[in-house]
Amino acid sequence: MADVIIVGAGLAGLACALELRAQGLEPLILEASDGVGGRVRTDQVEGFLLDRGFQVLQTWYPQAHRLLDYPALDLRPFEPGALVRWEGRLHRVSDLWRRPLRAGEMLASGVGTLADKLRLVALRRRALRGDLHDLYADPETDAPALLGGMGFSPRIVERFFKPFFAGVFFEPELAVSSRAFDFVFRAFALGDTALPARGMGAIPAQLAARLPAGRIRLNAPVAEIGEGWARLDSGERIEGAALVIATDARAAARLLGRPAPATRGTTCFHFDAEQPPVAGPYLVLNGEGRGLINSLLCPSSLSEHYAPPGRHLVTVNVLGAGAEPDAIEPELRLELTDWFGPGVTRWRRLPVYRLPEALPVQAPPVADPAERDPRIGERLYLCSELGGAPSFHWAIDSGRRAAIAIGRVLGAGGQVL
Ligand SMILES: Cc1cc2nc3c(=O)[nH]c(=O)nc-3n(C[C@H](O)[C@H](O)[C@H](O)COP(=O)(O)OP(=O)(O)OC[C@H]3O[C@@H](n4cnc5c(N)ncnc54)[C@H](O)[C@@H]3O)c2cc1C
Repeated sequence: MADVIIVGAGLAGLACALELRAQGLEPLILEASDGVGGRVRTDQVEGFLLDRGFQVLQTWYPQAHRLLDYPALDLRPFEPGALVRWEGRLHRVSDLWRRPLRAGEMLASGVGTLADKLRLVALRRRALRGDLHDLYADPETDAPALLGGMGFSPRIVERFFKPFFAGVFFEPELAVSSRAFDFVFRAFALGDTALPARGMGAIPAQLAARLPAGRIRLNAPVAEIGEGWARLDSGERIEGAALVIATDARAAARLLGRPAPATRGTTCFHFDAEQPPVAGPYLVLNGEGRGLINSLLCPSSLSEHYAPPGRHLVTVNVLGAGAEPDAIEPELRLELTDWFGPGVTRWRRLPVYRLPEALPVQAPPVADPAERDPRIGERLYLCSELGGAPSFHWAIDSGRRAAIAIGRVLGAGGQVL
């Protein structure tokens, strides 16, 4: 018998299992799908590495930094900043703190007014002051009110903030809490934004490899839970001294009999191309204020492992997951052809990932996720985004805090202390 049953082998469940083992407890993870990683998975298709939706690792995340072996992931960073399309052409928008020599180019760019560029200094100072507890203790508003209140012009909001952060939150109008916005701004400001050389799935794979064999049961969907027990879809009942829910927010709500939380979606198209549409490790954003494309990147420009020799992988992200990929592909291709020319007609579509429940809605109010008590019953714990917050940092943090809370109640070997 395991000491602790964990439902879900995403980053939260894996982090929880590792921390439990560090405390001398034996976890058993029950995972519904056929692999570990939850939302962070990579498929191998015809020599391409296809991440299940566009994601990046922000190296600053304190919990990711603590838990992951970054050198072993062979991280490949993006160029800080982005290429943004407006008025029919691409413009480079650089992070001046990391690319100070591009100050002239940035000041001359039409991404915003000169005053906007000075306001970026104030926004950066605001997001970086204090620690994360201070950040979540700040008075809360929403992101548009925050940016408007700081005096940013509509031009920089439309050309930079909306395309960039809408792609992070999957919220076209940026209707997110100022706290969630500050957290993400801080992550981009303080570290690299990177892809592991062998795909995002290398992150959970690294964590799972630290667990002994037999600690993760795949294809084991949990139908029902209670204090220290789980019943699988198959009817099998599994007992432990405690049970941790480490599923996505919707599944956690279902298991707990709570209302389903609202989520935001995205659709990720991957294409096999002869040539990359842009040179270099850039994220390309749509600042035109119209069209299907939110962002585009060429993962094989960051790591050669993403595509077979002589080919290139182009990933195009669309906000929302309401439309059938087949229905929107013709319009998407027209837009891409307008951006990059007729060579786009030779791009071959690879699998598309349609993710209606990619992230929970992050509108105010957003509380400090570190303040949440993971213990929700006598022998029941929760480390999900339900009542917490998304991101690799908060997933790992919540899993770890649930394990620490369990360790306070159970001694090594699962005895109640
Ligand atoms: C497209 C996309 C882009 C993102 N980009 C970023 C990014 O750039 N940076 C960032 O920090 N975050 C990003 N995120 C968010 C991040 O992926 C999540 O916050 C994080 O991975 C959540 O981890 P988790 O372990 O809490 O949940 P999940 O990864 O959802 O894992 C939950 C696991 O529980 C399993 N499960 C569910 N129900 C059951 C059941 N009944 N029985 C057994 N198992 C069950 C699921 O199969 C899954 O494996 C992105 C998410 C998406 C979808």
